[in-house]
Amino acid sequence: MNSNKKGLNTICTHVGELEDKQYRGAVSPLYMSSSYAYEDVDVKRYPRYFNTPNQEGLCKKVAALEHAEAALIFGSGMAAVSSALMAFLKAGDHVVLQQTLYGGTYNLVHEEFSKYGIEYSFTKGWTAKDFEAEIKDNTKVIYIETPSNPLLTITDLEAVAALAQKNGLVSMIDNTFASPVNQNPIDFGIDIVIHSATKYMGGHSDICAGAVASNTQNIDRIFQLAKNFGGSLSDYTVWLLERSIKTMGIRVRAQNENALAMAQFLENNDDIVKVYYPGLPHHQDHDIAKRQMKGFGGMVSFELKPGIDSSKFQKALQLIKPSMSLAGVESTLLSPAKTSHALMSAEVRASQGIADGLIRFSVGIEEVDDLKADILQAIEKVK
Ligand code: PLP
Repeated sequence: MNSNKKGLNTICTHVGELEDKQYRGAVSPLYMSSSYAYEDVDVKRYPRYFNTPNQEGLCKKVAALEHAEAALIFGSGMAAVSSALMAFLKAGDHVVLQQTLYGGTYNLVHEEFSKYGIEYSFTKGWTAKDFEAEIKDNTKVIYIETPSNPLLTITDLEAVAALAQKNGLVSMIDNTFASPVNQNPIDFGIDIVIHSATKYMGGHSDICAGAVASNTQNIDRIFQLAKNFGGSLSDYTVWLLERSIKTMGIRVRAQNENALAMAQFLENNDDIVKVYYPGLPHHQDHDIAKRQMKGFGGMVSFELKPGIDSSKFQKALQLIKPSMSLAGVESTLLSPAKTSHALMSAEVRASQGIADGLIRFSVGIEEVDDLKADILQAIEKVK
């Protein structure tokens, strides 16, 4: 695509208009499918078919951002995840998934797949060898997430893509934590890139959306299933998401910078026992992260010293908000042991390295000194 040659912020702000003279940017939610279809006597335009002018324009933008030929925009990240997986799996097939996976994706697989006769295995770790160990004769898909939630492990994109190619499998990645600003997996040979656009693409904690980017053939295949499952995004939210993406490059780069500063600050605090951030030189996967990421992202996890209660710590914060979601311009955090991973037994949590004092911190774009001061005052109050 032409737009791939343009710079990130140019794509964020312009690509629809540049690519397609007919598309004038998602300027208004009133520029909607049914009335447009009526005026244009184009009866094929219908929101659930992902083909209103607003939807098509945004799909082009997402495709350009991910260096892909095509994309689809969904009503949530999970609609994107489920549509991508189900489009490539049928009864009797098997999928290998990364062990450290977003909880909603784990639930989808664990609670739904057996109903459809789809087999699955979770890896023991996150290296290409761990994936290879789980491949069977009926395996069709490898599914990864990097950086992972909440410990920010990094999976080698090139190695997994090569493994998938060697075995004739489709490789998929949940690229939500990195965002297209920091990581473009298609450049490393991954076939299908998925986003919860609720996160960095939206960036303001006020919409729910998802996206899938790949080559035209794969996107057509996902579309055939997705139009029946009905998970497309309404034009009104398409409009909001397009507005949000205009500033994504600037937002995410500011979040990268703040996150690195906060990771370094937390490392030097005696009340924090561990800091997880792929941008820190001693992070176990730092070398891989350096190879495949353009920025290390806005997510930092850290472990409070035993004796400092994570709930009390969160309540004592004045600026940083406890929140389930992440990636907004405002800093938020949560305790995985008490929220996203609360349903796991303490033993399973411990085996995955998720300590009770672990905090998953989504760093925003505030002044970094204000964030530091908030954390210091909260620790002092509760220790
Ligand atoms: N993938 C990741 C990594 C996530 O963090 C989330 C949500 O938190 C999802 C997928 C699901 O996205 P959504 O909530 O938009 O359905």
